[in-house]
Amino acid sequence: MGLKIFNTMGMRKEEFIPLREGEVRIYVCGPTVYDFIHIGNARAFVVADVIRRYLEYKGYKVIFVSNITDIDDKMIRRSQETGLSLQQLGEIYSNAYFEDIAALNVKKPDVSPRATQHIPEIIEAIEKLIQKGYAYQANGDVYFNVMKFKDYGKLSGNKIEALEMGARIEVNPKKKNPADFALWKAQKEGEPGWHSPWGKGRPGWHIECSTMAMKYLGETFDIHMGGKDLIFPHHENEIAQAEALTGKTFARYWIHNEWLTIEGQKMSKSLGNFITVRDALKMYDPQVLRFFLISAHYRSPLDFNKENLRLAKVNLMKIISALKRFVSLKEKTEGGDEEKNLLLNIRRAKQRFEKAMDDDFNTPLAIAAIFDIVKAINAYADKNVEIEKSAKREIYETVKSLLNVLGIEIEVKEKKYAEDQMALINGLMKLILEIRQEMRRRKEWRMADEIRDKLQKLGFLIEDTPKGTKWKLK
Ligand code: AMP
Ligand code: ZN
Repeated sequence: MGLKIFNTMGMRKEEFIPLREGEVRIYVCGPTVYDFIHIGNARAFVVADVIRRYLEYKGYKVIFVSNITDIDDKMIRRSQETGLSLQQLGEIYSNAYFEDIAALNVKKPDVSPRATQHIPEIIEAIEKLIQKGYAYQANGDVYFNVMKFKDYGKLSGNKIEALEMGARIEVNPKKKNPADFALWKAQKEGEPGWHSPWGKGRPGWHIECSTMAMKYLGETFDIHMGGKDLIFPHHENEIAQAEALTGKTFARYWIHNEWLTIEGQKMSKSLGNFITVRDALKMYDPQVLRFFLISAHYRSPLDFNKENLRLAKVNLMKIISALKRFVSLKEKTEGGDEEKNLLLNIRRAKQRFEKAMDDDFNTPLAIAAIFDIVKAINAYADKNVEIEKSAKREIYETVKSLLNVLGIEIEVKEKKYAEDQMALINGLMKLILEIRQEMRRRKEWRMADEIRDKLQKLGFLIEDTPKGTKWKLK
């Protein structure tokens, strides 16, 4: 069975077919860098990371772009409050963001474009929209005319008429229609501004994302992601701008995550009920926090509370201790039916894991499949102290690759394998040096020297001493 994705565009699960064979291009709306990110934001980034990792697991080459919003109203307000320049503010909080997502083992995007570094491209896009009749200027502002884009509302289902009646849109005499949105905002006093054909000003948030997405991923790309608050107006407006410009589909699959809640309410800056990733990491291990964030399906709400975090910790510990137990099984050369059964169970669990992830990235079911592995390993270890070598290797590699999709590292085991490898090298070197010693005894100096030189090239320092030959790694 192939991968199915719930596409917000159309609101149904669809078979995933990438635009280019073997390659998936993804754009994720990144943070506005005026403050530390909170664990609600982190949910969006961890969800995107798991999706990226699963596509990589399936063999796709993934190109992952996630922007930094470093100019908008919140940035300007914060810069005025703190006395920090926009640049300083952006630098401080984008560095903090990269640190925070790294702590949660979120892979770095391939490109992290910043809005302020793409002003010429943004201006060019706005000029084209004006030329094509989709945008108009009004006293230094430029607006997108929603009436001109016939598909406006296709993502969110919001009809222009309904929007115009809604109280959410402020009355702005510069706009032709109340639902029109700003592509360019004229500079106000005390605000930063860039030169443009419409006077000094700054770009609107939506045009930043659509311009940067198309610059790095092409006019049409595969997946666009973000939290569900971005469906409207942000993503609706990105589609309008991009498709008005190119006449082509902008993103083919739209993925939106549900809220991380706290006491049942959306965690958000404006409600003041947020916990930054930094503070959460003072209370919880990063792996536990990450495991918690993927414990619910991304389209279900997830509540940040002590009980859910306790459960995440207990479950993660169960996985880790089963793996520790598994690694400590001694290796033997011959296996029997027990190994065969165990392997069969593991292979089946791997299939269940893939089936779960293929069904719109169902991480709770994928974790349940990992627990099937935990159960099988524990049952085996209850009865056995040894395991056949190649079965051990296969199971280890399988578990490692599945946990890697979830972004859970199994360090204990890596260390153990490093130790095993070192033991293997020690044995091999002992054998080689014994053979070389025998050559020297037979006065085959040329050959003995050649072995020494070749080992040296490989990184082994060989020293002949009266007490025998010694070696060490360079
Ligand atoms: P912002 O910096 O506010 O644009 O948010 C960055 C990302 O976090 C966006 O994709 C938001 O939709 C997402 N986000 C914000 N709050 C939450 C929340 N409580 N739960 C899940 N995602 C959220
Ligand atoms: Zn965006």
